[in-house]
Amino acid sequence: MSRDHQYLILPGPVEVRKEILEAQSQWMIGHRSSAFADLYGRMHEKLQKAFFTENKVLMIGASGTGFWEGASRNCIRDDQKVLHLTGGAFSERWADISQANGKQVDTVQVEWGQAHTPELVAEALDNGPYDAIALVHNETSTGVTNPVKDIAAVVREQAPDTLIMVDSVSGFLGTEMRVDEWGLDLVLTSSQKAFALPPGMAFVAISERVLERAKQIEHRGYYFDFLSIAKSAAKNNTPSTPPVSLMYAADKQLDDILTEGIENRWARHIAMKEMTHEWATSRGFGLYANEAYRSNTVTTVDNREVGIDVNEMAKFMAGRGFAMDKGYGKIKGPTFRIPHMGDLQPAVLEEVFDGLDAFLGK
Ligand SMILES: *Cc1c(COP(=O)(O)O)cnc(C)c1O
Repeated sequence: MSRDHQYLILPGPVEVRKEILEAQSQWMIGHRSSAFADLYGRMHEKLQKAFFTENKVLMIGASGTGFWEGASRNCIRDDQKVLHLTGGAFSERWADISQANGKQVDTVQVEWGQAHTPELVAEALDNGPYDAIALVHNETSTGVTNPVKDIAAVVREQAPDTLIMVDSVSGFLGTEMRVDEWGLDLVLTSSQKAFALPPGMAFVAISERVLERAKQIEHRGYYFDFLSIAKSAAKNNTPSTPPVSLMYAADKQLDDILTEGIENRWARHIAMKEMTHEWATSRGFGLYANEAYRSNTVTTVDNREVGIDVNEMAKFMAGRGFAMDKGYGKIKGPTFRIPHMGDLQPAVLEEVFDGLDAFLGK
């Protein structure tokens, strides 16, 4: 097979379609022009559909980590606490970020591969009050999807003043997530995961309660100050220079996603997850994540039984034109991940399995 590039089978950055890459090559515009305000306004309307919200969606030139920091700084008062649900590389890092910003952090740690349940959260809330609870929708390191809807319901009921902050970096546009219906105050994401854009942009949907909270916090920092970003956003603008080329790409990608249909997109991800489970288990591999909470966008394959050399596997697959994941952090090797997110189609996933079978000598 001949490919003109390495096709990314990585859980971020993901493969980006040529048409989307090409959308970036339009002529530059100044970001104080009416053409830019049009672009911003169009994108905002489509982003609200994508988040299933009527709340404001802020966008910025940064990776998702930027809005992690923004969330911690704008939503947690210095004399109050935040509850971080941790159990994987990303949820743990967000807790570190709150700590690095001087916030008082409590955590509910679950074992890697396990999910946070509403029961665990209900119990932990007794140690409050908490200004905010921070959780990761789809833990990309372990392939676990947390039951965000049910957790949010418990928080709303038991601690109605606690802001619900969700990282949906690898869930957004790949698996069900409804901001308004689920009552989420803040949901952040970035461009290079299931959104299937080049890296470099972050997005956050925020409720009025988030803005009210931010007003009570003196030191919100500068670049990720929600009040300043929201003030510019009201004029379809940004406080500092935005990534215009990437916004062209995002504008087109949102059109294409709405044409596919968001729910159809979720269904395509579920179908690819099922294909991946079927392939992995029929080849003797385990599935790392707890059965009830396996992700629709990425499968963490448990390699302990079969024990392939993930470096050799990646080398072999590179020869077939695929850049493969080798696992993340402390579970790299004993596990590796097969992402099935973004604009990936089942037919390409089949080619990946054919390649892996050839490597296994099947
Ligand atoms: C990739 C990822 C992040 C980090 O996002 P960046 O855009 O790389 O800063 C955060 N959370 C989750 C769940 C991720 O998968």
